[in-house]
Amino acid sequence: MRITRIELYKAEIPFHEPFRISLTVSTSAKPVFVRIHAEGALYGWGEATPTRAITGDTQAGAFAAAQEYAGLLIGRDATDIEGANALLRRHIAGEPSIRGAFDNALFDLASKAAGLPLHAFLGGPRRTFETDNTVPIETPEHMAAKAAGFVREGFRAVKVKLGTTAVEDIARIAAIREAIGEGIPIRVDANQGWDVPTAIEVLRAIEAYDVQYAEQPVARWNVDGLRRVRDSVSLPIMADESVFDHHDAARLASAEACDYFNIKLAKAGGIGTGLRIAAVAESFGLSCMVGCMSETRLALTAAAHLVSARPVIRFADLDSHVDHEFDPVTGGMTIVDGLVHLPDGPGVGADLTPEFLERCERIAID
Ligand SMILES: [Mg+2]
Repeated sequence: MRITRIELYKAEIPFHEPFRISLTVSTSAKPVFVRIHAEGALYGWGEATPTRAITGDTQAGAFAAAQEYAGLLIGRDATDIEGANALLRRHIAGEPSIRGAFDNALFDLASKAAGLPLHAFLGGPRRTFETDNTVPIETPEHMAAKAAGFVREGFRAVKVKLGTTAVEDIARIAAIREAIGEGIPIRVDANQGWDVPTAIEVLRAIEAYDVQYAEQPVARWNVDGLRRVRDSVSLPIMADESVFDHHDAARLASAEACDYFNIKLAKAGGIGTGLRIAAVAESFGLSCMVGCMSETRLALTAAAHLVSARPVIRFADLDSHVDHEFDPVTGGMTIVDGLVHLPDGPGVGADLTPEFLERCERIAID
């Protein structure tokens, strides 16, 4: 099954409201969609939605890299996904989001060719699982109101962005717990916003509010700092920006620096590396979450299949489309009462509407 044609689409999807984290403020998603066609009229979809403050890549760079990648892959065996990944990694250092889009498109194509939903192609049963919804950084009052709204909509866990000052961050969690009552897990994510003493101060203070775990308290490079925070607090620590791939995961696990890994297809460069991170977690007795950047339901659905594929993935944060002003995806995962449901049928099971694709800047390579 040779790759015959690759189409690239560039779009912008505004958010309902600006989304602030400790690193940056975002106002829109800027995806590049990759459609890989093969002999036999099958195609697979992938999505790259770069978040420059975290992954270092941009939509313009991803679109340019994609044109080179497409040239490398035309004519190759579409089922040689490992070979394609190795080729792309060698060709350009970095560019994880767009590499992930190609990887996901090839997994979509291969699982369609096999007649299996992607999770089954990867060896996992279909699972229905919880996702949280994420509260961006605002005043404690605004954040508490937003969190309470999520709970009313049926979400069973709330993720809270922190990472400004200790006083503000502790006040945020106190206000949110007050607003949502007991029984709903709160997860916090500082996005590298604290130094080690501040992280220890905040996490010790918010333990009283029944916080489930703390994501990326300190700078991504600070493996020893992450370990010191973990040793000093009772909350489990999740690495996010510190773990892009399985090499990072092995280093963090060996250093006993975290309890959980946040796998994101945009950091890992796709499903293949996501599976490797999950394998490292299993090897060291750790667990994983699968998270997102600001992707549409296309990439989120691929991520949801990955959750279903491996029991070591215990948590999910697949909520980015909720902030989008419009949804160009047909099929795909849905969230009902805080639970993610996978689509039926082979492959990822998500497509883009012809009307949306018509509006995108696009290029085809064959
Ligand atoms: Mg995070």
